[in-house]
Order: sequence, then structure tokens, then C-alpha cells
Amino acid sequence: MTATLLFRSVFNLRLVSLAKRRGFVYPSSEIYGGLGSAWDYGPLGAELCNNVRAAWWRWMVHERDDIEGLDSSIILNRLVWKYSGHEETFTDPLVDCRECNTRLRADKLDDGKCPNCGSKNLTEPRPFNLMFRTHVGATAEDDADALVYLRPETAQGIFINFLNVLNTSRRKLPFGVAKLPFGVAQIGKSFRNEVTPGNFIFRTREFEQMEMEYFVRPGEDEQAHQEWIDACRQWFLDIGISADNLRLYEQPKEELAHYAKRTVDIQYRFFPEREDEERHWDELMGIANRTDFDLRTHSKKPEDAEGKRLNPDSTEDLSYFDEQTKQRFYPYVIEPAAGVNRSALALLMDAYSEKTNDKGETRVILKLHHSMAPIKVAVLPLAKNKPEIVGMAKAIKRSLQPIMRAVYDDTGGIGKLYARQDEVGTPFCVTVDHQSLEDEAVTVRDRDTWEQERVKVSDLPTYLLQRFGR
Ligand code: ATP
Repeated sequence: MTATLLFRSVFNLRLVSLAKRRGFVYPSSEIYGGLGSAWDYGPLGAELCNNVRAAWWRWMVHERDDIEGLDSSIILNRLVWKYSGHEETFTDPLVDCRECNTRLRADKLDDGKCPNCGSKNLTEPRPFNLMFRTHVGATAEDDADALVYLRPETAQGIFINFLNVLNTSRRKLPFGVAKLPFGVAQIGKSFRNEVTPGNFIFRTREFEQMEMEYFVRPGEDEQAHQEWIDACRQWFLDIGISADNLRLYEQPKEELAHYAKRTVDIQYRFFPEREDEERHWDELMGIANRTDFDLRTHSKKPEDAEGKRLNPDSTEDLSYFDEQTKQRFYPYVIEPAAGVNRSALALLMDAYSEKTNDKGETRVILKLHHSMAPIKVAVLPLAKNKPEIVGMAKAIKRSLQPIMRAVYDDTGGIGKLYARQDEVGTPFCVTVDHQSLEDEAVTVRDRDTWEQERVKVSDLPTYLLQRFGR
């Protein structure tokens, strides 16, 4: 193993151990020996994921006039997955290694070798459906009518509500979303019984998606697709991911999902430790042109060549009537789909840095973008045995907490308190000292520059908000 490689794999272990030690991510069900590839988000991880969701929702829904939000069920009528094609085709090619019995995804193998034992003695690939099955109601488990799935994507919940959103939004003035193009966004859990989950929170069986279906006129789809690809890449830059670690990947025809005309992935450099540069990259989000496949397949009207209904179960026609051209058609759909968890992982990896001080001590600094930092400000008393200083620090924390996530900490010397906040990416530390009791001012320290500024307590909220650029 080369020196760089060794350093980089240690680096990743450091990130995983930091995540556990500081309450970002814990292995799930740990007291019972864990559950393969399931993770729980601790206090700081929950804040980080909330920040990702909030930033995406604000950008996608609040800051636009043409997109509305939705929160649909995780368990849907089984027919949704029949007509979406998931029952038939939502599979991964599964192979078994005949030497060590490991189950593997055929499309993720390197040179057709088992990564566990190196053998090439593998079975023929067979399709394995990734949808989790369960049963509704108190019926016997083998009752086929009671079979349902946990959703493997949030998108279908949007398609089956197309008419609901269209009709309810039509009445909305002045900005209705009833006219094309318009979009519906949703954030929620999805479930896939992945054959080879792993790499920390990169691939898990339960995860969270942020998806938006953007309905456009056929013919306007290609331009809208390109605009969303560019906008999504920019969004990741805006929340602090560096351009060097992002790239666009055009899916070749043979990789495209059954509904897709074109799909471009935004990839992140999740695996910098790999020797081959090409293998550093993996998907952070996908932006697909799903054509009119979904609205058409869930509609009652389309017929085959013999005039037989393609979907005899649907009770609605999900087409759109264009008042201007007096034409009826099935809109095309552009779908930006990102993962909350993969975004959180990319943010943590991108922010991780180490700094060595004059004494040769190495400290971790998480250089998270201010908007993503779990804690925005920590208020620290310089002397915890001085009731006036402690009282003042606690009062400042209370005054800040309605406007930003603020914490109070007095469980160590000031150097240790700073280091603890740097490690979790807190952009600002506010120190209350003896002088503060006289001049009603505090010292504000910047995480990245380590510069200190004296600020009047009465100016502190405005000062911090300005520094956050809001
Ligand atoms: P992959 O090729 O990695 O299996 P995918 O192309 O099947 O992913 P999509 O269906 O496009 O993924 O889902 C959109 C996003 O949801 C992905 O870009 C990723 O961020 C997230 N995602 C998908 N599967 C998982 C998973 N098993 N664990 C965590 N996040 C996931």
C-alpha cells in the first residue's frame, strides 16, 4: 500500500470515529450487536440532516413560484409498484461466490472477481428485487392481497397525486402552480434491500431522499433537464461542497432506467483512497428525464394496438389540458433526486480538515458551511467559578437561541472548549470574560481564521446574523 493510500484510509476511519465520538452518527442497535449497515443520527447528525433538508426545501419550494411541496405515504397501494414497473424491474443482478458464499452485485464487481476472496468462480447473475415486503392488516402473511412494499423512491407518491396538486393549486393566486412547467417536491424515507450496502452511510437499506418532479411540455424537456443539472450542481457548491470533489457523469444508454431518456449523475469523490482516479467517484444525486412514462402508465386511457387498456386498474387520466393550445397531453418529467444521507456524508468529508498548532498538537476542524453547521454559536465562560460570568454567558445563550442553534459549555478550559467546537464545525465561539462584566462586550472567535473580535452584547445577534450572510 502506498503512503498516500494508507493516509487516506486512515483519514476515512478518522471521519467515522469522529462521527461516533461527537454524536453525528452511531451504528444502529449497537447494544444488540448492531444491524448491518443501519445507522442512527445523534444530536449533531440530526441537526446536520435537518440543515440539509431545510436548505433544499427553501431552495426548491419557498424560493420559487412554480414548485409546491408534498408528503405522501411510505406504504402505497401495491398497484402503484406494478404499473411503475418496480415489481418487474427494480432489481439488481445478484451473484454468489462459489468459494466463500458471499452475495454480490454483478454490476459492481471489479474484473469479475469476488472482493472477499478474489475468486472468479461466481454463479450466473439473477435478478433480485430490492423492494422490502410487508403485509397490511391482521390477515395471514401469505395472503397475496395483503402484500405491500415499503417505497423504494418517493417519486411515485408524487405521480399518483399529480391531479390533486394540479387541481388544488389552480385556485391559488397570484402564483398558482397549475400552469406548466410546474413541480412537486418531497422529502422522505425510502427503503431498498440493497445487496451490498456499506461504506458507512453511503449505501444503507433505509435512507432519505429529496426528490422533485418537474412537469414540462414534451419538447421543452431537454432544455429543462440541462437547466436542472446545472442548478443542482450549483446548489451543492452553495452549501459548501468544493468544485474539485464534484463532477457530472452522463449515464450511458445501457445503464439508463427503463423510464429514462437521459440521466446525468452528480458524483462526489467519496473514495479518494482508491488507487484508480476513475474509481474515486460515486453518485451523490441523479437528474433524470423520465419522459411521460410515469403519468402515462398510471393513467386509465392509454391503449395497446388492439384497443385494450394498458392500465385497467387506474380510475383517472393524468393528462394535462393546455388552455392556450387546446391540446391534451402527458407532461414530460424532469427529476432531480438526491439523498439526505449521502449529502451529509459528502458535507462531512468535504469539511474535514486537520490543523497542527505550535506545540505540534493536531486538531480536527470541520469547515462546514455556516448554513450546514449543527451548532451556529457556542457561548463559553472564561471562568466557571465566577457566578456573574456564568450567569451572563447563560443569559447570552438564552437570548440567541430563538434565532440560531446556540449552546453553552463550561466543562473545560477555554482552549479545550474551542477545540471541541472546531471539531464539530461551530463557526463562532463567544467568550464571556471578567472585562465583559464591565464593558458589556464579549469576544467572538471565528472558526476558520481564529481571529477574535470584541462585540457589544446588545449588537451580538445582528453581528452574528450578518456574519452568516443572512
Ligand atoms: P445507486 O446507483 O448508488 O444505487 P441509484 O441510482 O439507484 O443509486 P436513485 O434511485 O437515483 O439512486 O436515488 C437518488 C438518490 O438517492 C441517490 O443519488 C442517492 O443520493 C440516494 N440513494 C439511493 N440509494 C441509496 C442508498 N441505498 N443509501 C443511501 N442513499 C441512497
